[in-house]
Amino acid sequence: MDEIQLKEIQEEEMINNAFQELLDSYLATKHRKKIEIITKAFNFAKQAHKGVKRRSGEPYIMHPIAVAKIVCTEIGLGSTSICSALLHDVVEDTDYTVEDISNIFGPKIAQIVDGLTKISGGIFGDRASAQAENFKKLLLTMSDDIRVILIKIADRLHNMRTLGSMLPNKQYKIAGETLYIYAPLANRLGLNKIKTELENLSFRYEHPEEYAQIEKKLAATQQERDALFKEFTDPIRKELDKMELEYDIKARIKSPYSIWSKMQNKHISFEEIYDILAVRIIFKPKELQQELNECFNIYVSISKIYKPHPDRLRDWVSHPKANGYQALHVTLMSNRGQWIEVQIRSKRMDDVAEQGFAAHWKYKEGGGSEDEGELEKWLHTIKEILDDPQPDAMDLLDTIKLNLFASEIFVFTPKGEIKTMPQNSTALDFAFSIHTFLGSHCIGAKVNHKLVPLSHRLQSGDQVEILTSKAQRIQPSWVNFVSTAKAKAKILAIIKKEQRIAQKEGEEILNTFFQKEDIEPNSANIEKLSRLHKMNTKEELFLALGQKMLVLGDDDRNILKEKGSNTNWKKHLFPFGSTIGSIIKQNKGKKESTAKEEEKKTEDNNIDRKKPIKLTEETIEKNYIIADCCKPIPGDDVLGYIDEKNRIIIHKRQCPVAVKLKSSHGNRILAANWDTQKTLFFPVNILVKGIDNIGVLNQITQVISQQLNVNIHKLSIEGNDGIFDGKIQLYVHDVNDVKTICNNLKKINEVKSVSRI
Ligand code: MN
Repeated sequence: MDEIQLKEIQEEEMINNAFQELLDSYLATKHRKKIEIITKAFNFAKQAHKGVKRRSGEPYIMHPIAVAKIVCTEIGLGSTSICSALLHDVVEDTDYTVEDISNIFGPKIAQIVDGLTKISGGIFGDRASAQAENFKKLLLTMSDDIRVILIKIADRLHNMRTLGSMLPNKQYKIAGETLYIYAPLANRLGLNKIKTELENLSFRYEHPEEYAQIEKKLAATQQERDALFKEFTDPIRKELDKMELEYDIKARIKSPYSIWSKMQNKHISFEEIYDILAVRIIFKPKELQQELNECFNIYVSISKIYKPHPDRLRDWVSHPKANGYQALHVTLMSNRGQWIEVQIRSKRMDDVAEQGFAAHWKYKEGGGSEDEGELEKWLHTIKEILDDPQPDAMDLLDTIKLNLFASEIFVFTPKGEIKTMPQNSTALDFAFSIHTFLGSHCIGAKVNHKLVPLSHRLQSGDQVEILTSKAQRIQPSWVNFVSTAKAKAKILAIIKKEQRIAQKEGEEILNTFFQKEDIEPNSANIEKLSRLHKMNTKEELFLALGQKMLVLGDDDRNILKEKGSNTNWKKHLFPFGSTIGSIIKQNKGKKESTAKEEEKKTEDNNIDRKKPIKLTEETIEKNYIIADCCKPIPGDDVLGYIDEKNRIIIHKRQCPVAVKLKSSHGNRILAANWDTQKTLFFPVNILVKGIDNIGVLNQITQVISQQLNVNIHKLSIEGNDGIFDGKIQLYVHDVNDVKTICNNLKKINEVKSVSRI
């Protein structure tokens, strides 16, 4: 037997073992045992992908098997979904069609595979228009059959787990997309565990060093937490035993990604995060109807042992989160003087929390009536948003994302009906959530019987009455203070509609003017007018006329009637709509450095996108632009982005702008590494907080300028009731300089926290 044959036999064995494992885990579930069709789907996919390898060198079929296993064991779906997962890449990657699948496996599986094929190019294609279409498709297929998106999430999870074999620039695209849309989607669908894993995997690929550091610190503090956990839970166990409950107490450790985000968002160090450990009590209710009451009984009995925090009782039991999450969260003071969060849930609530109510999702098989659950309502909102035309894919995405992230508050209508709203909702959001008419004619609201403006932020428990007036019109500024997707989409749609009407009116006004003054209504004359009034397009001109922001008069007539107009040459030199005045103004506003940056164009075909670019002093000065939004310095995890002008912009990997670029223009992302020799200086901002004693300021400046010999560029310090807040701008070579400065500043007694912002 030769080597190739031997390898084939080994591969065959590996494939069959993986499939057997899938079958075993399926048989261990409560689903009906439809082994036959699953085996058929496996054999079909296996021969369809025969001979094809993944980047890792594995036979391709290992991927669909792994996705099917996630679908079965981690999401809890049945045979239809398992078959669809096994077949999910067949139509995309082989010659088989959806009809073939339908003929062999029936219309339902074919429909799901079709949905998965449509969105297989990732949500975001390479062109902006394709993005919009793909994203819409994803949402539409999702609202047709939620299983499509669940399998897609499983597919993405397996791709993330095996991301190591991809090229770095592809890794950033996939990791970015995962963090931007898949993790929030998983969260919205209640797939908590998968959401956490997706976030962590993205984080690990984007910031490998920081990930490793947090892991190391978690490991180093593990013993300490174990001791705290035991000490804290022993008395709780005794109390629960007295109640004769069947229960389990688990320690829940914050994930590296959420630790890191908290460090970033709150500018604190690992050591300052106090809620790394939380405690979870999972009990089996004696009777299912009693589980709600039992949650509260447990709360009452453990709050006899430890004092509860008055403001931190979260009742997700009586009011589940929109993703189905149910639990009672309390924060208790441990004997070590540390607040510890305790999550109380029944076994059923725990299942929902881990797997999402996807696991409990009943499919519309016989067309039976469905409970209009929160998920249904959310899908309904998405359909509504999709019905309003929105040309920009990223706008649409942002709008939908608003609804993915939000945690919720509960507010009441004047009749006492309860409504779930995303956090940060305003009175105007509330109005739109009830009815578009109410929103578009809203003039104010009464919250708890007090008059408030439209922009008033609602709090849980508020009772809200909306005040309307027929004369009210939607204002463009409203977009700035709504935070729900629905309100935002409605406002934009109405504004656009009104603008179209105004444009039409403006066009008519212009035509009447031309007629009256006996001027030829040709495009040259319209252009002349646009230029005169500094309008970029003729649509802008029409709009201004229609909205009566601009009234045509004698000047306009005179300019248009000017004989032998010598303004034609301008047209060839400058883009339509620019005047000399506006060009001079534009240039004045720009710093000299930007003129140089214009030259930093890179010939597209000179870039080897497969290789990380090297950031040296020389290349930074010559070829690359340091992004102004996040101002990365050597040592930061960065990436390159090729912009429309073919310049390469260097962003921090976690920069919000870069996150968006990774998702929308993933093919323009380059991996980048620093290789600097400490000759260039970069600006950084450092935030210092502490106790305001005499001489602190002096000590801070001493440390920076005397000890470390670093130039302070800007320094602002504010004292407030004995506490100070200082912002220092410095020029440094790299991240190590910043670390040294921070460490030295921390040695000053009065300084309580130092961080880079
Ligand atoms: Mn796949």
